[in-house]
Amino acid sequence: MSEFDTAAAQPGHPPWTCPFCPLLCDTFGVDVGPPGRSLKLVGSNCPRASTALAAFDGSPVAVQPQVDGRDCDLDTAIAAAASLLAASRQPLFGGLGTDVAGARALYALACETGAICDAAQGQAMMHGLRALQDRGGFTTTLAEVRTRAELIVCMTGDPTARYPEFFRRCGVGERDDLQTEMLPVHGDLFDTVSLLAAVVAGRIPVDDDRLPADLAALSMRLRSARYSVLVYEPGRLPAQGALVVEAIQRIVATLNRSTRAAALSLGGGDGAATVNQVFAWLSGLPLRSRAGPLGLEHEPLCFDAGRLLAGGAVDMLLWVSSYGPEPAPPRVDIPRIVLGHPGMRPRDGAANARGQVFIPVSTPGIGSSGHLFRTDGSVLLPLRPLHEDGLPGTADVVRRLTHAVKTKKQERVQ
Ligand code: SF4
Repeated sequence: MSEFDTAAAQPGHPPWTCPFCPLLCDTFGVDVGPPGRSLKLVGSNCPRASTALAAFDGSPVAVQPQVDGRDCDLDTAIAAAASLLAASRQPLFGGLGTDVAGARALYALACETGAICDAAQGQAMMHGLRALQDRGGFTTTLAEVRTRAELIVCMTGDPTARYPEFFRRCGVGERDDLQTEMLPVHGDLFDTVSLLAAVVAGRIPVDDDRLPADLAALSMRLRSARYSVLVYEPGRLPAQGALVVEAIQRIVATLNRSTRAAALSLGGGDGAATVNQVFAWLSGLPLRSRAGPLGLEHEPLCFDAGRLLAGGAVDMLLWVSSYGPEPAPPRVDIPRIVLGHPGMRPRDGAANARGQVFIPVSTPGIGSSGHLFRTDGSVLLPLRPLHEDGLPGTADVVRRLTHAVKTKKQERVQ
């Protein structure tokens, strides 16, 4: 664990890197205050960060691990979790709300157990991945948008609803030569983006009577801008959203023949994009993959966590959510291990908790250090702790679990 970020702990003394959405803002501070008082954001009124910080109070955490609904120590919880994993024929690792170190440890455990891994936002993430795998794409960074973009077009609505500091990060309002536009949607999003792509490419004349006037105006604005950035949120895309992402990339590719353009995806929060990056560099495959008896397998549709659980295709769930009580694990009737924020401690009592293990873990950027990838994919930022929470990190717990599973397997062979 690195030193506490005492500078960030003082009001108005950034930098603190906010881990609560993939913009990873690093210019705000946090007022830690006396133990027992909720952490407060300083320098921004971002509601997403403020709500997330309210789940922490700067005190050491007294929440104990649980096995079958009963409090226990960490060693007992790890031994019980290892027994569940070793007995499982097909585990599923879900949620995946962790950082680089946690992801590396989870990958090793997934290889040891043959687990399938899918993030809580797996479905949204697959839209962009499918499009990238099928056609590739042009992307950009927040820094480049801030310094060079001339036009930002929001393809899936106002991004500030989910990413409150987005426009400020891009320098909107600071530069006279940077403008924003919202895509006017006429009926279906895919039809609208496809129509815009056809007009930008000149396949439909811009003065065609059947073309909505606002879409014609946007196409002309895109063609005249020196650098356009098309921003979209995979989480707002409909089913088969990869088709919309491909259409967005078609517009970008067309514009790049005569001017400059890029797409920027806003998604992969709660560590999902980071875990995907780590798995990709360790295995060559993104999430929704498994290192099983057939070697490495990637199944973007079949390895959907919701589908696997609904179809009874997995017999245990390991859920990781270290940034907050959400995303919460699904209710399942199979054995379940939760490595989570202390607020996720089950309250059902022992009666409904057989085969349930809960281990509270530290939150990177609050009670421990860590690293996360930003939404633009190429920037890795360090997270510094604000106070001592007394909890183990996800990576520590998972490494111990992996060792315990290996030991149990060896014992069985002997
Ligand atoms: S926009 Fe995101 S990263 Fe920035 S302060 Fe809000 S929650 Fe944190």
